[in-house]
Amino acid sequence: MSLLVQKFGGTSMGSPESIKQVVKRVTQARDAGHGVAVVVSAMSGETNRLLELAHNMVTAPVAEDLDVLLSTGEQVSIALLAMALRELGVPVRSYTGAQVTIRTDNTHGKARILDIETDNIEADLTAGRVVVVAGFQGVEESGRITTLGRGGSDTTAVALAAALKADECQIFTDVDGVYTTDPRMVSSARRLERITFEEMLEMASLGARVLQIRSVEFAGKYQVPLRVLSTFEDGPGTLISFEDSAMEQALISGIAFNRDEAKITVVGVPDQPGIAHRILGPIAAANVEVDMIIQNVSESDLTDFTFTVHRNDYAATMALLRPQVREMGARDLVGDDRIVKISAIGVGMRSHAGIASTMFEALAREGINIRMISTSEIKISVVVDEKYLELGVRTLHDTFQLDIAPE
Ligand code: ADP
Ligand code: ASP
Ligand code: MG
Repeated sequence: MSLLVQKFGGTSMGSPESIKQVVKRVTQARDAGHGVAVVVSAMSGETNRLLELAHNMVTAPVAEDLDVLLSTGEQVSIALLAMALRELGVPVRSYTGAQVTIRTDNTHGKARILDIETDNIEADLTAGRVVVVAGFQGVEESGRITTLGRGGSDTTAVALAAALKADECQIFTDVDGVYTTDPRMVSSARRLERITFEEMLEMASLGARVLQIRSVEFAGKYQVPLRVLSTFEDGPGTLISFEDSAMEQALISGIAFNRDEAKITVVGVPDQPGIAHRILGPIAAANVEVDMIIQNVSESDLTDFTFTVHRNDYAATMALLRPQVREMGARDLVGDDRIVKISAIGVGMRSHAGIASTMFEALAREGINIRMISTSEIKISVVVDEKYLELGVRTLHDTFQLDIAPE
């Protein structure tokens, strides 16, 4: 008997009708002879609704309390799905994260899974029961409920698949696979049959929310066979593959974008040793993650130091730096939270020069000014003004002909 972990996202659990479709997917797998462990998200919109409730209650809810609230969304889902399955005569047992014992660290709101107890679930599966597990949540050492960050049910699913040594982890969602870019932004986006693990990691970390980044990291670490599929349409979906060398590689596999960035520049700082540390040290101490960093010396040994942070951290970071600007002998502090990051990703670019210049030329042709650039072996990212997001993504998708499948 093979074992599948099937995860259903918010839209899939969004209404009684779509839950029936979920039931269909689960029973199909079961009827085909597979053991099935299901992971579910909260009904679509529910996590946002709960967040709003909290912010209407108090201005700054504490993460520990938020976790107690937000985890209820997934608890509703496991109950509803268990009811629907049982009504059809399917033996089933539901589990919250704490009931499974999905142990996490105590970083409330962004907890990491440490380990998963599988004894009870394995006993259920052996007895022919379907298990339905609440995604996105766990429990820390002292018994407090934790959550894994937005989109965290993907990570629950992959971690559970790793713990159970499942044959495949299937992420069912509202699109039928991983596309060359978000199909809601570019209608000519094409579903990929396969994407390499490395590319998927970059896509997820650069903004493609189809898989939470940590779920991809987990899949890599434990070599979990991972597939993205549609709940609503039949099809093979997209396989995240680990053997990239055997495959014919396209230069670029996909375009990802991130709307959540903001850019900050400390203007005209004296170019001395230790300046980067002086600027970024307090920011790191405040637990703010810095993404891109650029430093360039301009005239007379003064340097402009520019970096990006998450938009939610923009105001706090500006407030943190403002009083230090004079102390550092800098001329000014300027920021912009109306920027976005667009990235082209592909393992094929490793062996080809000139991808970056093709990209910059295409953006220039459309009059899109590039504000920052960063590259790695398999990706090129640019920061541009927010108003150019759609044009930029479409332009690059067209330029690299991503709508056409490579031979
Ligand atoms: P779920 O609720 O099932 O977890 P999400 O909304 O988290 O679903 O993720 C699915 C969405 O990801 C799609 O509806 C799509 O708009 C978006 N998306 C962004 N980039 C991509 C991509 N490259 N391929 C497929 N979907 C993408
Ligand atoms: N319900 C959570 C969220 O909306 C987790 C998830 O959907 O994966 O982020
Ligand atoms: Mg998701």
